[in-house]
Amino acid sequence: MRKSIVQYMISHNINKRRVHKIPGLLLILAMILCLAGCSGSKDTTPKTMPAPDTDAGYPATPGPTIQDTTTVAPTAPLSTDAEITGTDGPTATDIPHYIVVLDPGHGGNFIGAWYDDRIEKNLTLTMANYIKEYLLENYNGIEVYFTRDTDVALNGDIKIDLEQRAEVAKGYNADYFVSLHFNASEAHELHGATVYASFRDNVAEKSQGIAASILEQLVALGLKDNLVKTRKSQDYYAEDGSRLDYYAVIRHSAARDIPGVIVEHCFMDNEIDKQFMNTDEKLKTLAIADAEGIAKYLELPHK
Ligand SMILES: [Zn+2]
Repeated sequence: MRKSIVQYMISHNINKRRVHKIPGLLLILAMILCLAGCSGSKDTTPKTMPAPDTDAGYPATPGPTIQDTTTVAPTAPLSTDAEITGTDGPTATDIPHYIVVLDPGHGGNFIGAWYDDRIEKNLTLTMANYIKEYLLENYNGIEVYFTRDTDVALNGDIKIDLEQRAEVAKGYNADYFVSLHFNASEAHELHGATVYASFRDNVAEKSQGIAASILEQLVALGLKDNLVKTRKSQDYYAEDGSRLDYYAVIRHSAARDIPGVIVEHCFMDNEIDKQFMNTDEKLKTLAIADAEGIAKYLELPHK
């Protein structure tokens, strides 16, 4: 069934960059990917078939309950006007100032994907350090904070852990929340970069905008373009009855008016994608791509 879905994807050329609803089979595929990879916090071991789990705090039941994964057309960088915090002088409006909170995915007992000798929770923390270092060395107008800076979970309950990541971002008064991840698939054949964004009105433009900017930089490295995507929950609703985001950290960020994204850099179990992340230097290259995507979108001034 899995193979037939992939063939379906290929035959329908789903990678065209445009907004569209993904048909039912693809929704099932998307869900499999989530559960097999870091979005679902699945531990992927070599030559074994991952079993679904629910520790990511995302809606627990895969299958036909998941609907409306949507790809998003890229958008131009936003004007910085709305983000300017300085008001003290006539030049203050020319100086952007943003607070970006990086979320190294997983941590502690939540190890994320695992393949060969690489464990996702460690890769994401390494990435976060590289991104922060690069941004602060090369750009003005930005502060960078982490949801975690050691190998810990924020809470033993994964649902609470994921909400606390957004709460940490709120505590920093974050303008953007960027969650860092690596993917994996059951048959190890999938590859490429995907960035998940919010579709909620209060954050959609900025979330999808920064997602597209980051993805553009990753694709420029040679990674396959698996598009910016949004995903609606069928289990979580707003008070007005409208559906919320499927992914917990994006949903919880949006609830705090913070545009959030999940960057699935590549598939750590795929032979093609391994070439992008199998050394520390390559992780740094990925991190610089993230950083440049953030900087370009925010139009940060170079140092
Ligand atoms: Zn992950």
